[in-house]
Amino acid sequence: MEYNSLGRLVVISNRVAIPKARGAAGAQGGLASALGAALKKRKGIWFGWSGQEVEEFTGDITTHESDGATIATIDLEPQDVEEYYNGYANSTLWPLFHYRIDLTRFERETGMGYERVNDRFADSVAPLIAPDDVVWVHDYHLIPLGERLRQAGLRNRIGFFLHIPWPPTNLITALPFHERLVKAMLEYDLIGFQCDEWLESFRYYCRKELGAKIDPGSGEITLGDRTVIARSYPIGIDYEHFMKLGESKEARHAERRLTGSTRGRKAMIGVDRLDYSKGLPERIDGISRFFDNYPERVEELVFIQIAPPSREEVRSYKDIRELLEQKCGQINGARSEVDLVPIRYVNKGHSAAELFGFYRASKIALVTPLRDGMNLVAKEYVAAQDPEDPGVLILSRFAGAAFQLTDAVLVNPYSADDISHAIRIALDMPLEERKKRWKKLHRGVKGETVQRWMNRFLKDLNAIPA
Ligand code: UDP
Repeated sequence: MEYNSLGRLVVISNRVAIPKARGAAGAQGGLASALGAALKKRKGIWFGWSGQEVEEFTGDITTHESDGATIATIDLEPQDVEEYYNGYANSTLWPLFHYRIDLTRFERETGMGYERVNDRFADSVAPLIAPDDVVWVHDYHLIPLGERLRQAGLRNRIGFFLHIPWPPTNLITALPFHERLVKAMLEYDLIGFQCDEWLESFRYYCRKELGAKIDPGSGEITLGDRTVIARSYPIGIDYEHFMKLGESKEARHAERRLTGSTRGRKAMIGVDRLDYSKGLPERIDGISRFFDNYPERVEELVFIQIAPPSREEVRSYKDIRELLEQKCGQINGARSEVDLVPIRYVNKGHSAAELFGFYRASKIALVTPLRDGMNLVAKEYVAAQDPEDPGVLILSRFAGAAFQLTDAVLVNPYSADDISHAIRIALDMPLEERKKRWKKLHRGVKGETVQRWMNRFLKDLNAIPA
């Protein structure tokens, strides 16, 4: 059965992305365009927080039509934003789920704010949902939402996709009320993870901590009279759209601009939100180690790190920014010549078309998160390469993408020596090997797109008996 021959689709996420506004082709852009297309076909609704704050929560919903889909948003109170968004979501769940228990804050108030906002989401969206709608909830901001919707009387099929890693059991048990959180998840009908490792961790938790029964064949997890299916659905990029952007003037200009500025040196690129999970200081240490180990090769390379700031309200994000500035400054101070600065650290965001051009001009990409649910930059870099002269992808083995992109040069992102060694291998890799690796990487990136990800998830969700 084709998923689009069924009832309406209701997508619920912290923020909504308006399907028409296709600024970026990446995580937000690709996701927005794929979900937007499905919402348009099924006359669906995308519900979320408007990003606006009001003094007192009213639950009033603002709607507008976009290409046949309805975008519906609510405003939140400043206290909601502080406790639910900056607090529990981004200072508790995000660091803990990225294995940073040292940065994880456990505060009762923010936990209560998280529960309150999930209640507010449920109360606001439930009246918009018709009995044969299929509901798809996204990400760590809204883990308990399915349970709240059940409490509001919904019997619909409800799916949940976690875009970030699921941590090992001995980390998540550090979270107060972890059992409550996971039991709430079991109220969904289908739970999707980015890769098998996160799925396995989730199953292990359910078996060990809750005594649930696991059927690995069907993906069923049964606790009491509830059965939920949990599977992995690796997300991809909007390949066709990204390739079209690559033909734009903007992309070509960006490529020329970067190539022209490196004056014969090989460009090596990193593109990441400024987030401690991305392993940026560790990456700079790896580059520094390369320069120490091979001083005669400093002039072969220019490293460009694009790092738009994010979540600036949260303390740990300010700290990472300071640390990175310091590290880049130190290396450039020690290694620059009048006509050579080895590290270009760019603190602003770029469009997907510009990134395409920068990727294409770069002979190496350093994608070294300490932990990442998937990592789409790695896939975009592969897509943007010249098939006749492709660059080399250096990829952290701790990114979800490493499970698919096994022909990248895989590294331990904590090890400066490993990164340094990988840079040398990439610089010296013969054309034939670069082509051989790229072909295999490219086949995966082109085939496992965001559209395929969405279709697989919705097909499985629709197949669950209502
Ligand atoms: N991105 C962008 N402009 C920038 C930096 C990043 O559009 O200046 C996009 C990038 O192309 C990618 C996304 O942001 O599509 C980042 O996704 P990823 O999965 O790599 O990491 P996340 O930020 O979701 O943790």
